Amino acid sequence: MKNTSSARKRETTDATDLVEFLDEGNDSGEEDDPRSPPSWHVLIVDDDQAVHDATCYALNNTRIEGRPLHFLHAFSAGEALSLLNNRSDVAVLLLDVVMEQEHSGLELVRTLRNDLNMHAMRIILRTGQPGYAPEAEVIRDYDINDYKLKSELTHAALVTTLTSAIRSYVQICNILASQRGLSLIVDSATDLLAHLSLAEFAQKILPRLAELIGQAPEGMLFCCTDQSTAKAGAANTKVVHATGAYAPWIDKPLEQIENQPVLSAVKQCLNDKGNVYGKHAVTLFLGGAESRDAAIHFILQKPLSLTEKQLLDVFCVNVAIGLKNIGLFGDLHSLAYSDPLTGLLNRIGFIEAIDKHASNQETGWTIALIDIDHFTEVNDALGHQRGDTLLIGIARRLREYWGAGCTLARVGSDVFGLLAPEARLDPARLHEAFYEPIVVDGYLLPIESTIGLTRMTDKCGNGLELFKTTSIALKHAKRVMRGRWLYHTPDMTASALERLDLTYKLRNAINLKQGLHVHYQPQVELATGRLIGVEALLRWTTSDGTHVAPDRFIKLAEHAGLMVNLGEWVFRTAVTQIANWDAAGLPPIRLAVNLSLMQFRDPFFVGRLRKIVNELKVPAHRLELEITESIAMLDTDSVITSLNEFKAMGMDVSIDDFGTGFSSLSYLHRLPLDRLKIDRSFVQSMSSMGDSGSTIAHMVINLAHSLGLSVVAEGVESEDHALLLKTMGCEFGQGYLYSPAMPPEALPGWLDGRNAGKREHPG
Ligand code: C2E
Ligand code: CA
Ligand code: CA
Repeated sequence: MKNTSSARKRETTDATDLVEFLDEGNDSGEEDDPRSPPSWHVLIVDDDQAVHDATCYALNNTRIEGRPLHFLHAFSAGEALSLLNNRSDVAVLLLDVVMEQEHSGLELVRTLRNDLNMHAMRIILRTGQPGYAPEAEVIRDYDINDYKLKSELTHAALVTTLTSAIRSYVQICNILASQRGLSLIVDSATDLLAHLSLAEFAQKILPRLAELIGQAPEGMLFCCTDQSTAKAGAANTKVVHATGAYAPWIDKPLEQIENQPVLSAVKQCLNDKGNVYGKHAVTLFLGGAESRDAAIHFILQKPLSLTEKQLLDVFCVNVAIGLKNIGLFGDLHSLAYSDPLTGLLNRIGFIEAIDKHASNQETGWTIALIDIDHFTEVNDALGHQRGDTLLIGIARRLREYWGAGCTLARVGSDVFGLLAPEARLDPARLHEAFYEPIVVDGYLLPIESTIGLTRMTDKCGNGLELFKTTSIALKHAKRVMRGRWLYHTPDMTASALERLDLTYKLRNAINLKQGLHVHYQPQVELATGRLIGVEALLRWTTSDGTHVAPDRFIKLAEHAGLMVNLGEWVFRTAVTQIANWDAAGLPPIRLAVNLSLMQFRDPFFVGRLRKIVNELKVPAHRLELEITESIAMLDTDSVITSLNEFKAMGMDVSIDDFGTGFSSLSYLHRLPLDRLKIDRSFVQSMSSMGDSGSTIAHMVINLAHSLGLSVVAEGVESEDHALLLKTMGCEFGQGYLYSPAMPPEALPGWLDGRNAGKREHPG
């Protein structure tokens, strides 16, 4: 270990000077000069300057595999380590075993192999002391190529040793590179196979490619042709993504690129459908689906090795599958997310669009759902084809106003969605947009709409939640503001949630038959006060003891499709009840049961009721079915058919709440009716002074009589009502004057009470 201090003082520049002096073929600029082949870097590590000099001298002007040698010098293991920490291109290490310490050389080898993971670099150990040789295991474990005595520093010996070392270095590098490259390709392919847009694909692929060949992702260009959108066969190629100096070309048509070499390389690549390897640039071809091919052009920052070219070829074939998928996904995407009739987004697409804004925290947007009023009527009156034309017209009208920068959708048969910046979405303007009627086949169709809106705030939910709140606002608007609009407020959701909760409880109540009861309200003959029958009225008490009004829960049951079962249960319960009263010795009581529209829509409806009547052996002529005017007006033929079947069985049919609907007289005539029930609102607004209530009541009574029907007045609350109705010729009455609806066990007592009263005040 001599001369180390002076040797250590030598800087790399000195070493380079020496090399330059010794090796005239290697000028200092050789590494940067692309014309000369790159040299092999050989690091000499020895604390003896003479060994450095002798090695350089012996190898002067030597070329291995056609490439010159470039020497690097270190005079201690430490110096070698710091040098190798900064460069990875050293092919061979000529290493002195004994330097600072006896094992410095071997220590260095261990660090390089195990800690720094430098596996490609070949290592040749040299020692000045004959007889000193490392153990065989050391040579094997540390992957040491050769072991030489310094006395063997002859030209021939060195060249032979270095040649074989460099050859195996190249092989190992290639294996490592392709291993790395292949796993990179596998990763990239998986990554790029994911559901991506073309732009995302382009943005992901460029850095992957750069990594594969070990250069920075600069000066790269991804362009894609789309033959399907091109006119007259000329391909329509656009720059989808570009980096570095090429970045300003993003979104430009290829033809507008003002760089002839790039332009012609890309064109050649797309025409020949193959990779173009130039000296300074490469253009890769990716075959896509349905002529949607892509080309990736990039400047080479260093020459490509054969392995790298092979890897690029493999890369292209593999990731092209990802490109093909984009076409496929694109088609699937448009199928799944758009409305084929209007070309707008569909419901899913709209929710996704809202979701994008929501997840980017883009506040200041408003969501609108626009329900076209009376669309069904237009559709029925003019036919489906014209209905479709109208919808297309509406979509076009919306596009005129909210095309650019907004999102439009058709989210239901006659409901449109609009997502727009708050400033651009004034509901009054939405109405205005339809002031001018839409022309369909010469028909001028005025459009009226009801609109529900939600403002996106920083605390708003995801796309689906926002869509739901907007639907809730629309439902509210349709109930209370038809032809107008309503913005969503939190209490709307609260009441919607409450309805949902109540529906859930009702479903349970029906399934478990818990909390549901039928009460009975007497109907009396006005002239005599005699009980002629009872109306069955459903009651529901929830498990926490709340009485829910029938008007409310019956609507819920209808919405939730529960009414068919519930109605049948009421019918069975009530018919069973009058059979029980019969058995208890009460005079035969007639029974009126309310029917819901849903029951008429059930194809087995008539059969179900018939079965109950037969089973319980109650004479059908003691049963009466009450239908509302709205039922009577709907589904003409099926309602009439069912009613006729009930009539044939012997039951009576009455129209409930008469006067509140819009029954046409001619229509009433066709229904197999027995009775009209005057709605209680008319009865309650009656007075002996004669007002609108009395007038209508009178009219209804006369109308009923002229049709051969008897009349029941509902809501009779006072003797005055009873008297007035009696003088108008009304036969029957029902109301609090006689009794509210009562539980079945209360009826015998009520009857007794009345009979006792009669005995006291006969007549
Ligand atoms: P509705 O068929 O018109 O029933 C008469 C309603 O008037 C009952 O209300 C009854 O309690 C109430 N009422 C009776 N007398 C008077 C009175 O003197 N003054 C006033 N102000 N009201 C009186 P309820 O029980 O709340 O039922 C409301 C509606 O729910 C019923 O109207 C009927 O349409 C429906 N409903 C009740 N039970 C059933 C059922 O089992 N099936 C179907 N489909 N609907 C039912
Ligand atoms: Ca009724
Ligand atoms: Ca009624």
